[in-house]
Amino acid sequence: MAGEVQGYRRFRLTEDGLCPPVHFGAGPWDGRIERARCAVDEGHVPPEWGCGCGLYGWYHPSYTGLGTGWGNVTAVVAARGRVILGDTGFRAAAARIVAVSLPRRTGPRRRRRLEQVLAERYPDVSVHRSRRRMVRRHPPEDLSALGVAVRSSPAVRYRWTALVLWLCGVVALCSVAVVPRAVLDRLGLVEWLGVLACFLLWQAALVWLVCRASPPPAGPARQEPTEAR
Ligand SMILES: [Zn+2]
Repeated sequence: MAGEVQGYRRFRLTEDGLCPPVHFGAGPWDGRIERARCAVDEGHVPPEWGCGCGLYGWYHPSYTGLGTGWGNVTAVVAARGRVILGDTGFRAAAARIVAVSLPRRTGPRRRRRLEQVLAERYPDVSVHRSRRRMVRRHPPEDLSALGVAVRSSPAVRYRWTALVLWLCGVVALCSVAVVPRAVLDRLGLVEWLGVLACFLLWQAALVWLVCRASPPPAGPARQEPTEAR
């Protein structure tokens, strides 16, 4: 719909509905339009500058993380009203849930129950059996007209790079085991120091990559907004 900004975010799907995972006590989102309330200052009209309040969403689904954890689901939301646009996501005064994907590895009985809960509380929301199908149906929006470049999370790329680098290192270590003893005996101190340096560099690179591949914070709330409207 015109006048809305699309985003992706996590919810915890319970018998009551779709609850925000961070302020779980706030209860489930409204079936039509959810309006933001500030948990810090009642006088705030969310989203307030310099505060974390407002309903958040990421522009790209890769920022929502892998979604393990009990009842964790990914949803597509459409924000409206006052929206503060950040580099990777937004905070909004109000939003509605557009689509939701069911948790992974849900048995048929549990799935039917969850579909029933969603149909009762969120009749307008389209329910998908997997996150992949949902994203195919609701791809990231082009927000270049708003001055926002929608990109996937670099954390995903770091994760894959870390895995490939780890595998390469393991293969290298294994291949050392098949080097003939005579060759190893001929190696001098400098060569051994070189091998040690390579090993340490490999470990350091892995630590660096794993730190950057860690999941994103709960929301884009803490980043400095680049533009408001
Ligand atoms: Zn606030």
